[in-house]
Amino acid sequence: MSNPMNDKSINDIKPFIVMEVLERALELEREGRSIIHLEIGEPDFHTPGRIVESCIEALRRGKTHYTDSRGLGELRAAVASYYNNRYGTEISEQRVLVTMGTSPALLLALSVLVENRGDEIILANPYYPCYPNFITYVGGVPRFVETREEDGFQPKPEAVRAMVNDRTRAILVNSPANPTGTLLPEEDLRSLCELGVPVISDEIYHGLVYGEREHSALEYTDETFVLNGFSKLFAMTGWRLGYLIAPERFVRRLHILQQNFFISPNAFVQHAGITALTEDHDELEEMRARYDARRRYLLSELPGLGLGPAVEPKGAFYLFVGTRHIDPDSYGLAFDMLEKAGVAVTPGIDFGSMGEGHIRISYANSLEKIREGVQRIGAYISERGSR
Ligand code: PMP
Repeated sequence: MSNPMNDKSINDIKPFIVMEVLERALELEREGRSIIHLEIGEPDFHTPGRIVESCIEALRRGKTHYTDSRGLGELRAAVASYYNNRYGTEISEQRVLVTMGTSPALLLALSVLVENRGDEIILANPYYPCYPNFITYVGGVPRFVETREEDGFQPKPEAVRAMVNDRTRAILVNSPANPTGTLLPEEDLRSLCELGVPVISDEIYHGLVYGEREHSALEYTDETFVLNGFSKLFAMTGWRLGYLIAPERFVRRLHILQQNFFISPNAFVQHAGITALTEDHDELEEMRARYDARRRYLLSELPGLGLGPAVEPKGAFYLFVGTRHIDPDSYGLAFDMLEKAGVAVTPGIDFGSMGEGHIRISYANSLEKIREGVQRIGAYISERGSR
């Protein structure tokens, strides 16, 4: 594996703009301003009660030690069963590695896939901002597939096929996607999985879908690195728990990396993870229904403000809408809207060149706050129009 530190690829890592919006919003709040937060990609709900209880019980039972670095056997088995029941796959727990969130899972997967400097990972533009930073950090090169708004900014298999060459190490897909909330059509996901290149499938928004069923890349190829976690579906961002399902031949190397870098995921948090996956939680359906009601509200109101998405987003908790007619510079627009209207959104440029001319609106906030946000955005747009 290449040595990222020697090559100073760390200097290429770009700031996460959404965090800069959030930090400015918090500053304004400290000055006494009222801010509507539509920028943050994190559930506004608390973690379901039984999961919290089981973590407390685990702490009381003394589950405060290192665990097997691959994660507790019981949790690895629970992850395998969860996937097998949900997607009809037949994976064994041997292929599961428990991680401290989806982010470390991505870092580990890329670390074993990028063997030589210049190895390529293909991904769509726009993208989740951390993806190219991780790829560069491990010595790889992100190769961006151009996408079309009318395809929900999801990559088309023909376009990806044209980019595959002997340096391609993997194709990275994300469905439902951040920042667009769109899903890859099943036949496109299948075709991408049949290109003969390993697929890294970020399935962190699985379970947060509205009227459509999502598919795992594992249904179509064993050459899949599934990234998933508890942050979004179970509203557990702060717990830092996720997992990686990898092709068998990579597992030993991943295991060794995890031993060295992280030793093991948090013991008591893993116990909560077992409860999350093996018990029923009424809260999950409640949260999903509430996200959907907010999504439907935004889809009914935003087009009236000239902010309708080209394709209906059917997953995650985001809408990605064109704003070029208001201001071609999404960064300038987002910060101006924050200062003048007190509404925080994420500029599309955070998600790559194809994201420019757009903003991402997150509906991980109450319907009441979202209504107020829409009203403020409407007033802001009319005010700009009349200038
Ligand atoms: N992938 C995507 C697409 C995300 O949006 C996020 C969080 N915003 C992550 C991965 C990382 O999630 P975590 O590390 O909390 O599991």
